[in-house]
Order: sequence, then C-alpha cells, then structure tokens
Amino acid sequence: MSRYQSCLVLNAGSSSLKFSVLRRDEATEDLHPVLNGQIAGIGTDARFEARDANRRVVAQRRWNAEDSQRRGALLEYLLAWLGQALPEDRIVAAGHRVVHGGRGYSRPVRVTPEVLSALEALVPLAPLHQPHNLAPMRALAASHPDLPQVACFDTAFHAELPWVASTYALPQELSYEGVQRYGFHGLSYEYVSQRLAALRPELANARVVVCHLGNGSSLAAVHAGRGVDTTMGFTALDGVPMGTRSGSLDPGVLLYLMREKGMGADALEDLLYRRSGLLGVSGLSSDMRALQESTDPAARRAVELFCFRVAKEVAAMAGSMGGIDALVFTAGIGENSPGVRAEVCSRLGWMGLAIDDYANGRSALEISADDSILPVFVLPTNEEKMIALHTLAMLAASAPNGREADEGQPCSTARTPATC
Ligand code: AMP
Repeated sequence: MSRYQSCLVLNAGSSSLKFSVLRRDEATEDLHPVLNGQIAGIGTDARFEARDANRRVVAQRRWNAEDSQRRGALLEYLLAWLGQALPEDRIVAAGHRVVHGGRGYSRPVRVTPEVLSALEALVPLAPLHQPHNLAPMRALAASHPDLPQVACFDTAFHAELPWVASTYALPQELSYEGVQRYGFHGLSYEYVSQRLAALRPELANARVVVCHLGNGSSLAAVHAGRGVDTTMGFTALDGVPMGTRSGSLDPGVLLYLMREKGMGADALEDLLYRRSGLLGVSGLSSDMRALQESTDPAARRAVELFCFRVAKEVAAMAGSMGGIDALVFTAGIGENSPGVRAEVCSRLGWMGLAIDDYANGRSALEISADDSILPVFVLPTNEEKMIALHTLAMLAASAPNGREADEGQPCSTARTPATC
C-alpha cells in the first residue's frame, strides 16, 4: 500500500536523462525531493547514479556500449529501480522539462498524441534539445499509457513579452513564420519570482531583474511576476556569454565566417554552441569555478568579460521595465560565486547599488549593503520543483471531482496553486 503520492520529473538531453522524485507532504501540501540523479553517457557508455535527499549516492550502475544505445530500456530500468527504491511511493504523474513550447503553448500542458505531434513540429526551432525532450514522453506513453504526463516549457514564462521585446527588426513575414524572440530558463524565472514574492511580499508587484547564471546563462526583466524582457531570443544562444556558448554576436560575424572561412551551418553550430563563451575566451575551461581558481590571465579575462556583459544586461533589463526595484542572482554561478556577484554589482555602482561583502561571501539571502538603493538577493532556483508543482496542479485540475483542465490553456504559470 502506497503511503505517499510522488511526482517523477524528467529532463532529457542528447546523452543524459536527469530525474527527480518529489513527494507530496499531505499535511503541508508542499513537495520534498526524495531522490534524484541521472543516466549519463546514453548512446556510448551509459552510467546510472541516484542520490537521496542528503546528496548521498544510493545506487550506481553501468551498461555496455550496445545496451547504452537502448534508450527505451534505460528508461524502463529507471522506472523499475524507482519502484524498488521507493516502495511506499506511488508515482502519480511524470512532468517533463521541454525547451520549446513555440507560440502555441504558453503554459504547461497534459501530454496527448496531438500535443506530441504539435511539439514535434517545433523541432526545427530547437533541434539540439526538443527531440530529446520528447523521446521519453513517447516511450512512457507507450509503456505506461495510464501514467499522466505533463510538458512544462522553458519558453512559457516569456509568452506574454510585449511585442517590442519579442520582435526582431526583420521583414515581418519571417515573424509570422515564428522567427521571433522566445526566451528560455522560464521555469527558473517562475520559481525564483514566486519565491521572492513569498519571502518579500512587498516585492510581489516590483520590477525585478533576475540573473540566471549557470552553464547556460540569461537574464529576465520580471514585473509583478510576469516576464517583460529577457536576453535569450529565438534560440538559447543569444544574450550573455555562457560556458561554451557565445551569447549575442553581430550577425555580420556569421556572414564573415561563412564567406571568408567557408563555414557551413554545422561548423557554425559547433563554434557557437560548443567552442565559444568562457571556454572560447579563456582557452582553458567552460567552468566558472575553475576559471576563478586559475591564475592564468586568460581565465581572468573570460571572467571579466562575463561580468561586464551581465552588468550591461542588468541595465538593459531595467531599461525595459522603466526602472528596477530588486536584483536577484540564481543558478550555479549566481548562487555560488561571490566573486562574480561582487564584480557585476560593482559595475552597477552608478545605479546606487552596493553589496555587503560579508553577506555576499556567505551567499546570504540578501546581500545588499544598508545604503544600497535597491535590495540584492541570492535565491537558489529549483526548476524540478516548479515542474512537479505544475504537473500535480494539472493532475488535480483534471481529476473527476476537480476543475476540468483546459488542455490548451492549462493553469497559469504565474498562478500555480501550490506555493514554492
Ligand atoms: P549550473 O549550470 O546552474 O549547474 O551552473 C554551473 C556553473 O556554476 C559552472 O560554471 C560552475 O563552475 C559554476 N559554479 C558552481 N559552484 C561555483 C562556485 N562555488 N564558484 C564559482 N562558480 C561555481
């Protein structure tokens, strides 16, 4: 007999399948992580590792090269292992992180064959991610047809961007075809905005710039919990430099590389997605911590360029909102690097922004100095929890005695019933 209702969250990439199981606490209605981990090296040398809520490794396994290619079987292994590892839990739904919802999906949606086809049609917009996001949905629909599945989109938070923020200055027939700014990291922005509003209710209607700084980095302008501008655009290449991605470039650079270096789409994709950013500038590493620990001047240059570009975009995001009432840092670098936060904020001193070195060094919740013109926060993101909240909310809404969920217009991303 199952004591707990749990939600499985899947985040599938080209060679990895990350998973988390979050358990619902009946008393508080909150969600707690019980297990997470991943199958890495899919396609070549698949390796499974699971950790409990205290980050202790509780299981590991490897597969040979042939079995590493059997994605469906690897997913089945994970489900069977979860059944054994969590005998008191019943997985009531699976929530998936999906990079692109296009224009059609501005909110999470229950996965149906029609939804899968519509999401398949968006593959050209995100060819490196979307097919991998969809594969486990299809596999689960075939092997566990009774398990409700919900797709949660990285683009959804930005679905209400004003047209000036979502439109490129291109001939508008391209816009009508879908060549527009979509924005990404939406589940992180949604979680962090809700968390800030819960911790500081006086900021619920404020103009907040959120810096999601990790391997992938972007910033968002969030006004009263809604996205009004962001640095990523048509793809997750735009905006600030990242671990290996270039961030925004003069499009003329691409024309130059095509004409003068004979580079085609594949070579450009490799350059811009895998060989640029912190790695490209430093020539050493894509990892911020490694660069900050290095004494090599090239490492220092990469960090400096990153901070310069982030600070510049903070000002741009504030400009899009006509002002700024709070600044938030989140994700791997934003949450853990006092050095990056200090350097970004010192470049924004002209705004009257100042941080408290002691609070910043400890990555405290609020790191601004007493005389700072606006508060600066460090808020850990939790995209898995956001996905689980949406998934369970949609399940509740479509339950026989619940409010019928409208499949095309699921519960608002800005108004998730349970708090995070
Ligand atoms: P994410 O993609 O959110 O997991 O973030 C990964 C990035 O966070 C990598 O560049 C890490 O080097 C960086 N990071 C994690 N911990 C630290 C730290 N203590 N100091 C500096 N960077 C860190």
